[in-house]
Amino acid sequence: MSEDLDELYQDVILDHFKHPRCHGELEEPDATQKLFNPLCGDQVCVAIKLEGTNVSDVKFVGKGCSISQASASMMADLCKGKSREEIEKIISSFRAMMRNEVEPEVIEDLIDDAISLKGVRKFTSRIKCAVLAWEAMEKCLASLNKPGN
Ligand code: ZN
Repeated sequence: MSEDLDELYQDVILDHFKHPRCHGELEEPDATQKLFNPLCGDQVCVAIKLEGTNVSDVKFVGKGCSISQASASMMADLCKGKSREEIEKIISSFRAMMRNEVEPEVIEDLIDDAISLKGVRKFTSRIKCAVLAWEAMEKCLASLNKPGN
């Protein structure tokens, strides 16, 4: 394996892929979003439950490459129990890292295990894999703001 690929498939990514956190179906979710990444064939469906302004539970199901599924596990684990405001900040920080707009070390406390995905930035075609679940969470929160919800 080349050094770059070693970085891409770090132990922490493989651990989340093999033992996904927050995996499964959520009963009576307040919002769900299913996204598909045609570039790689990844699927992620994120479901959340609200309690006041907090996202009290997050679960995901999906299939696809290890990057997409590990990233979903990290995102779900990270966002569970946090306020919507905190989650929006976490997601925008993660997206900024993937766009090379912020140094990963600066936001490490905020994104925790997801910092291991920084190696993916070097592989343009895989960035969508890493961002998919975060985008689904973002859409879940946005759907709650729509009239009728
Ligand atoms: Zn993928």
